[in-house]
Amino acid sequence: MSQTIYCIGRNYADHARELNNPVPTEKPVVFLKASPALRGLEPSPMAFAQQKYHHEIEIVLRVGKDLTMGQKATLTAIDAITLGLDLTRRDEQYLLKKDGLPWTTAKSFKGSAVMGPWINARDINFDHPLKFSLKVNQELRQSGDTSHMIFTFEEILTYLLTFNDLHASDLIFTGTPKGVAEIQVGDPFTMSLEQPHRIFEGRL
Ligand code: MG
Repeated sequence: MSQTIYCIGRNYADHARELNNPVPTEKPVVFLKASPALRGLEPSPMAFAQQKYHHEIEIVLRVGKDLTMGQKATLTAIDAITLGLDLTRRDEQYLLKKDGLPWTTAKSFKGSAVMGPWINARDINFDHPLKFSLKVNQELRQSGDTSHMIFTFEEILTYLLTFNDLHASDLIFTGTPKGVAEIQVGDPFTMSLEQPHRIFEGRL
């Protein structure tokens, strides 16, 4: 079974507002990335490598077992999490949005999903908010706190299960807090998780 990469948009109100987007209330905004988007922390071939991208740091969930559409999901379905960057061609996205077209070429391209190493879900206390941050060139750009998410991890899983099965190894980008800005090929970046404490250094 192939891997599906789900991405949730506008899941932090402060980020939705910074891009002048409406804040969703009834259901999450969902889009997909294709698997060639996946890359690690080391420099790696990118589509549109001559361009600047926008960084969006996000908590990424990995589904650990197959789930059938209609099931109500619990967090036991998640076997690992990490921090990732949902890299975005923002200018392209603006043009596509203006014309009411899909975001695919702005969001799903080779190298557009930067992934940190996996953290076993057993090491995560999901009862407490997860706090995370991104520095680019040593400068703090984004700070996130999952208590500010509009839709919780469980609500996201349950919503995805209203229209699809989920499979072990599917990934879910859960949205980004405010502070999205430019990152260029070659820029060093640091993704940090507060508890459990993890620091992931990378270079675009
Ligand atoms: Mg995003």
